Amino acid sequence: MQIQLNYADWNNKVVRSGELYDILHSRNIPMIIMEPVKGGTLANMAPEFEKMFKDARPDKSVASWALRFVASLPGVVTILSGMSNWEQMQDNIDTFKNFEPLTDDDKKVVDAVVTKMLGMQLVPCTSCRYCTDGCPMGILIPDIFRALNTLRQFPNDNRPHFFYNGLLGRSGRAADCIACGQCEGVCPQHLEIIELLKEASAVLD
Ligand code: SF4
Ligand code: SF4
Repeated sequence: MQIQLNYADWNNKVVRSGELYDILHSRNIPMIIMEPVKGGTLANMAPEFEKMFKDARPDKSVASWALRFVASLPGVVTILSGMSNWEQMQDNIDTFKNFEPLTDDDKKVVDAVVTKMLGMQLVPCTSCRYCTDGCPMGILIPDIFRALNTLRQFPNDNRPHFFYNGLLGRSGRAADCIACGQCEGVCPQHLEIIELLKEASAVLD
């Protein structure tokens, strides 16, 4: 059976990676895993998270931790990981050619990252862009969420405002949302996009 699983979504109440894993594993059903790197967000992390991984294993990429987490789970037979370039492919090959299951110390590092990550409450948009084509107002939702996330982390940063203003040449404003709900119907992360756009509008429009 194919399920969505990664360390960040293990206890996520919507994605339910951990719960699904336990159900399948207890029935001895082999698993194919999608979203092991959560749409790339577990490969491009905030500097403080990257530092936590690099302090523990300086020679390993941040993405390798996500793949090792999934591949260390008994019952996982295939991992589907999208790669955008040659370097990412080489890194993934390196991870599996010299595969090392997570040690107990490694698991503590992952737990510490997840705890800190959840505390930051960023919008967990993976930029899959399934929501954008059907938006009648032409709002580039994931790009606006990127700006919103940066502002949540760094409220005094001007760059998200510059980024947003530049985006408006090809995107509707967050304030243009008419709450039709199309985007929320297709979002695989089940995000409350309409409410999040209101928040984005309050700080960016
Ligand atoms: S709810 Fe808002 S953002 Fe979503 S598709 Fe409709 S207009 Fe676009
Ligand atoms: S569908 Fe959801 S996760 Fe994908 S880009 Fe849109 S808001 Fe982000």
